[in-house]
Parts: sequence; C-alpha cells; structure tokens
Amino acid sequence: MEAALDAYRVVVGDRTIDELRALAAPLRGRRVQNINATRVGGGVAEILHRMLPLMRELGLDASWDVLEGADEFYRVTKAFHNAIQGDPVEIGPFDYEVFLRWNRKNAERIDLHGDFVFIHDPQPAALVERRAPSARGQRLIWRCHIDASHPHRGLWSFLERFVRRYDASIFSAPQFTQPRLPVPQFLVAPAIDPLSDKNRPLEADEVRAVLERFGIDPARPILLQVSRFDRFKDPVGVIQAYRMVKATNDCQLVLAGGGASDDPEGAEVLAEVRDAAGNEPDLHVLELPPDAHLTINALQRAATVVFQKSLREGFGLTVSEAMWKGRPVIGGATGGIPLQILDGLTGYLVSSPEGAAFRARYLLNHPEAANEMGRRGIEQVRQNFLLTRNLCDYLLIMHAVTRAEATTIRL
Ligand code: UDP
Repeated sequence: MEAALDAYRVVVGDRTIDELRALAAPLRGRRVQNINATRVGGGVAEILHRMLPLMRELGLDASWDVLEGADEFYRVTKAFHNAIQGDPVEIGPFDYEVFLRWNRKNAERIDLHGDFVFIHDPQPAALVERRAPSARGQRLIWRCHIDASHPHRGLWSFLERFVRRYDASIFSAPQFTQPRLPVPQFLVAPAIDPLSDKNRPLEADEVRAVLERFGIDPARPILLQVSRFDRFKDPVGVIQAYRMVKATNDCQLVLAGGGASDDPEGAEVLAEVRDAAGNEPDLHVLELPPDAHLTINALQRAATVVFQKSLREGFGLTVSEAMWKGRPVIGGATGGIPLQILDGLTGYLVSSPEGAAFRARYLLNHPEAANEMGRRGIEQVRQNFLLTRNLCDYLLIMHAVTRAEATTIRL
C-alpha cells in the first residue's frame, strides 16, 4: 500500500517528502504529545487531525490530549481569547482562579509524558506548572495560534508567568511575538492539508449536489464566508458588504459555519447573524455540523469570491483553503491574513464593509482578473501553506530545542 506521506509527492514534489523523512529519522520513537482545548471546531483541531497520522508514519509516537472543563472554564477561556486579541474585556481575580482550578484539575488527568509536549493556545498554558522535575530532557513548547499583537496587558502578565517556564514558544506571525519573553520564539504559519476531504479535488457533480441541498443557485455568482460564528470573523460586516454589492450585481451570499466545543458564544453570534440576514432568499446562513468537510470544500469551489473579513485573526485557515481552490479571497487586513493574501495579486485586503463591497464588485465584473488571482493563489499556497511545510517546521523545532546551545545541527 502506498504510504500516506508518499501521496503528497505529486502535490509538493519528491524533495519535500525526502526532507521530511531525513529530518524525522533521528527523532524516531520520540513521544510528541499535543494538548489543546477542543477535538472539533477551529483551526487547531483541523491541523492536529491531519498532522498526527503523518508524524506517526514518520516514526514519531504522536498523541493528542484534550482538556476537559465545565461552562465556567470555557466562558473564562473565551474571554481570555478575546482579551488577547485586543477586546476590552474585564478580567477579574475570579476568572484567573477558574482558569487555574481547571488547569490543575486537568493536570491530574493528563500526564505530561511526551519527550516534546506542544501545548496549544492559552487554555492549557498553565499545565506547565505540573512539569515533573525528574523529566529532564523533556521539552515543553507553547504554540500560540491567536493574534497576540495587542494583548490585554494584565492578562498577558498573568499568562507570561507560565509561558516563560516553557522551553520555547511558537507564533503564527512576526507581529504576535512578545518582546520581553525570555524563551526562544519561533515563527510557524499554520497550513492546510491538500489531501483532506476539506481540500481534495471534487467532481462537478459533488459540488452541484451540495448547492442543490441548500437551495443555492449554481447559475448566479456566490459570495461565501466560512467561519465559526464569532464576532472577530465579522459575519455581520459581510452581510453589510453583500447588501452593497447586491445593489448593483445580482449575487448570493452564503455564510457557512458551526461551533467549537470550547466556544460558548457561537449561538449568540449566530442569532445576531440571523437577525441581520432577515428573510432574504439570496442570503443563506448555513449551520453546519463539525464534520462538514466535503460540504465546505464544495462551497469554496462553487464560490465566485470568498470573504474572510476578520477583524482579528490568528491565521485564518479558510483563506488558504479558498486560495487552494483557485478562488480570489477578500480578507480583513489583520493578523495572519496578510501573510496569505498578497494584496491585489491573490485577492484583496480590506478594513471595512465598504472596502469589501468595492473589491467584490470589481471581482464580479472582471472574471478574468479574478481567475488570474485564483491561479496565483494556488501557487502561493503550494509554496507556503501546505501541511508538509508545517510538519517540516515542527521537526526542525524539535531538533532546535533538543540542542538549544548548538549553532549547527548535523543530521
Ligand atoms: N470550519 C469547519 N466548519 C465550520 C467552520 C469552520 O470545518 O463550520 C473549519 C474551516 O474550514 C477551517 C477551520 O475550521 O479549516 C477554521 O480555522 P481558521 O483558522 O479559519 O479559524 P479559527 O476557527 O481557528 O479561528
């Protein structure tokens, strides 16, 4: 049987796969433990689901533990998430207490057994407290996936007490790094899996069937945003942009999303979106189950223009997902989105509903320019945002943190 990793050769070339095998060989048998807050929903879970089997194929003993918590914990961690991304959120002593209590409770259940422990995002950051003094040689890495460019100062001081006890940290974009953090900071952009159901090629019939299922007209242009219902993704701003476009161009808007088990605000935001959408027949708000990968794939392929009009964004996997399908993407000029969208070349960066509408109208009226952007987007993603590159970065970081003092690493 063809090894799963070899299936990527046709997409990324032989050299990339050979390099991965060479980098992984000295790490064979090492335990790579990942810990995050949710198994479904959101970009972190999306990447871990796809990356762990590849790590295992490379001979690493890769595992994934998920935090458990009650509503109070997720309410606090969502507030932390919003505050790190710059929302003026009130955080009090009780919130810190809830956060620590649940981290300590989880530490009793989740043993930090990995040779390399990747702890994703703020929710489990305090697990580092329980690092066993006997586990010498173990490396703990804090992987921050969110936009930490302007964090709530009080909250960041609190979190930094934990983060500084890690052996290294990883951020998605240069502006998220922390000037005073006394541990190495690595930059790794997230990535998409070209062979997953979310991104693999689809037959035209499969795409058509999805449109039919939701009553979307395949004959008229489709504007799309795929996102959790989260205010930072600005779904209401997308509706405003769509209404401006609709005044001059016949088109449809699809807002497709679901929730994440660690995001308690989803239902509230969905209600706001439904309210803003009203009963307009060309405006489709789709609530999707967590495993709707093929549906999202089909919607992205059917779209004429894809939005990711975020106001804050750690990376925005949905941008690369749409670009990989040859779609021009209009994204918020924030966080990791400008890493992906080369403004005017693979899509447009915008800062307002008016800007989004202006660019969308241009793309609808200039299909050749839109196609050309889409073609460039595919190459931009192939070069920079595929899973194999992310895996390669993680392997390099494992080598680097194992030999923290070395200036040269011989493999
Ligand atoms: N996603 C999904 N179902 C949804 C909404 C989003 O499968 O209803 C996926 C989306 O395709 C992407 C990921 O979840 O792969 C979201 O990652 P992103 O980095 O865009 O945003 P996050 O949710 O992590 O803030």
